[in-house]
Amino acid sequence: MQIIDGKLISNQVKEELRIEVEKTIKEGGKIPHLAAVLIGDNGASETYVASKIKSCEQIGFKSTLVRRDAHATEEEVLEIINDLNMDEDIDGFIVQLPLPDHIDVDKIIEAIDPKKDVDGFHPINIGRMAKGLPAYISATPYGVMELLKRYEIPTAGKHCVVVGRSQIVGLPMSILMQRNAYPGNCTVTLTHSRTQNLKEITLQADIIVAALGRPEFITADMVKEGAVVIDVGLTRVVDASKKSGFALKGDVKFDEVAPKSSFITPVPGGVGLMTVASLMHNTLLASRKEIYK
Ligand code: NAP
Repeated sequence: MQIIDGKLISNQVKEELRIEVEKTIKEGGKIPHLAAVLIGDNGASETYVASKIKSCEQIGFKSTLVRRDAHATEEEVLEIINDLNMDEDIDGFIVQLPLPDHIDVDKIIEAIDPKKDVDGFHPINIGRMAKGLPAYISATPYGVMELLKRYEIPTAGKHCVVVGRSQIVGLPMSILMQRNAYPGNCTVTLTHSRTQNLKEITLQADIIVAALGRPEFITADMVKEGAVVIDVGLTRVVDASKKSGFALKGDVKFDEVAPKSSFITPVPGGVGLMTVASLMHNTLLASRKEIYK
């Protein structure tokens, strides 16, 4: 069994990006500029945005944080998006999810200029990805693909079972794993909360991608010997022994699944760190106009 080290790979990716930016600046090019929109005071969102801004600093990107409290109206958020769309210095931006309930998430995402949609959530980017056209690929699935690639994990002809069909993780993951490329060329089964006999299906998986948001849901009896197990889940659970008062749990019962797997991502230290690195990668692509010429 080998642990897939998300910290190591995300640091590698960030270092590669840092070198690229350094080169660009030396050649008189533009410094990539990422903006983040944060609405409300969700603790996890605060942490995610802070780590994105910190990564920008480490790599040498410019970053801008636009904050509003939880009472911000949909119109106000749409206005912020319009300003960011028009701002020529901003190469890409993200709207940190979840948004307060009174704001229509789809409306907000569709208002983002697809050329600046470095989270890859806009329907145009999802559609282009599905067609195999150049597109911003949402950061978490992209990060998983990068881990598979850098650990040279064989995927062609394998059965990949994705658990969870969300538009930001499970669905794009299933599209990427079936495409005619490496990583990819899998036979993919996309499962969700209405799937019957989930265990029978996961037991057939050569590669399991768990993205359902239920801590330690995937147990050893659901996993075939030698399977590759990618744990996207990230749930805060109360843990009085921690200084912060909570611990991060994945969707996989790591201690019992790890000995059966050939490769496995830990939580924390796995996919989560790759998400930020992938967002930085998309921002560099945006600043170089590599997706939309
Ligand atoms: P989501 O939007 O809540 O979607 C969860 C999906 O799991 C849904 O499709 C749901 O099915 C399915 N599901 C729920 N219970 C199930 C069950 N018992 N059996 C099979 N499928 C079940 O969640 P998400 O945004 O995709 O996030 C999933 C997890 O990944 C969360 O823990 C989240 O925090 C984490 N995440 C991590 C990162 C990262 O950077 N590592 C990034 C994004 C998300 P239905 O469609 O039928 O409801």
